[in-house]
Amino acid sequence: MRLLQLRALQNANSIGILFKLALPLENMVREIVLIGRSNVGKSTLFWELTGKKVRIGKRPGITQYPFKARVGDVFYVDMPGYGFMLRASRADQEKTKDLIVQYFEQHAQEILLAIQVIDAASFLDIADRWEGRGEVPFEIELWEFLGDMGLDTVLAANKMDRIAKQDVDGALDLICERMGMLPPWTQWTDKIAPISAKRGQIQPIRDIVGKKLAWKQPQGSI
Ligand code: GDP
Repeated sequence: MRLLQLRALQNANSIGILFKLALPLENMVREIVLIGRSNVGKSTLFWELTGKKVRIGKRPGITQYPFKARVGDVFYVDMPGYGFMLRASRADQEKTKDLIVQYFEQHAQEILLAIQVIDAASFLDIADRWEGRGEVPFEIELWEFLGDMGLDTVLAANKMDRIAKQDVDGALDLICERMGMLPPWTQWTDKIAPISAKRGQIQPIRDIVGKKLAWKQPQGSI
């Protein structure tokens, strides 16, 4: 069994209990967490959602993270980019993965939504390359891990502007399939949000966030 799945199973029971013991919603700090490989456009999306620039450390990696920005009564949390990082050693990369996993384990109760950002234009090539080496792409492992933890998740398929119009549906169908969702992608519009953060075209993600916020709003507070 894969490492992340194993960890999710090990934690599922205690997290389930924590959920049952959770504080009333109105007392909970709520978080929307952004997660993704380096260079997928996570900081650009963070800026679009919060109006705040993610502080960039001297070195890509974990020094400045997790970075939080408050919008209304929700904290947006930017996690360090995982995967290939310029000048980051293998040990640093492993440390980053551990930090990400631990964060989700420790903060599961507070997390309203996990937004996993991918570069839709290169995701399929990267996934093919990993699978060609007999490895499970970390994106897929992470998606399964978040699901196994019972977190609400959405896949932000970013950089859609780099995919030709006529290929958009086909690419989104393939991405869905890779992530374990049966195509067509149009039946998963609450789980996959095609966006272009650089162009400010993020309405699908705004819609999903809006729904989650409305749904979790304590009664009588609107
Ligand atoms: P991060 O490392 O995941 O935080 O990625 P950044 O937000 O720093 O973006 C990495 C690069 O991708 C930058 O050059 C961005 O301008 C670019 N980028 C971000 N979003 C988009 C997008 O929607 N489309 C395109 N074409 N480029 C984007």
